[in-house]
Amino acid sequence: MKKMEDKILAEGKVLPGGVLKVGSFLNQQVDIRFMKEIGDEIARLYKDSGATKIFTIEASGIPIAISAGFAMGLPVVYAKKHKGSNIAGDVYSVPVKSFTHGDTNNVVVTKEFLSPEDRILIVDDFLAHGSALTGLISIVEQAGATVVGCAAAIEKGFQNGGDTLRKEGYRVESLAIIDEMTDEGVVFRKQ
Ligand code: 5GP
Repeated sequence: MKKMEDKILAEGKVLPGGVLKVGSFLNQQVDIRFMKEIGDEIARLYKDSGATKIFTIEASGIPIAISAGFAMGLPVVYAKKHKGSNIAGDVYSVPVKSFTHGDTNNVVVTKEFLSPEDRILIVDDFLAHGSALTGLISIVEQAGATVVGCAAAIEKGFQNGGDTLRKEGYRVESLAIIDEMTDEGVVFRKQ
């Protein structure tokens, strides 16, 4: 998606440790019109997938999932990073290592929101080493549901999570893939 690449070039900031800051349009502050275009693009890519639900992880995946959910007319489910007192009953859970914080959370979803008939499109803001998407895939598979594919707004190709999932046979679509990222600039993969 050319506009995603342009936004990254115009507003993204490269931080140490292979982190890209996009707080002005994707995390923290959300560019609503652009978020609609992100949802429309995910809907275009997955229009023939037969998805029945969108699935993501709090917090930064939620705006993207909502936008894709509107565009596709599908409900959105998001995994929580902690089992708080408002999560009652049986849950699916999986440990996920956070890229940005470095700690590991037991991510949970109440069982009633995913069922074996569901065809799940998983979305997130970033795809780096793939821990978040791998955890969400595990939850979908625990529920006996089908993963139709994954969509990330930004994939950092040099951290290999996306290509590992593709080799495992999952469909992974990213609106921009960064293959190199330094203070000097960003190199995008041709898609
Ligand atoms: P992974 O689990 O694929 O290693 O990392 C993906 C998760 O870490 C995403 O949910 C995202 O919130 C966060 N993340 C990974 N890389 C970046 C980054 O460069 N910038 C930001 N803002 N978040 C990132």
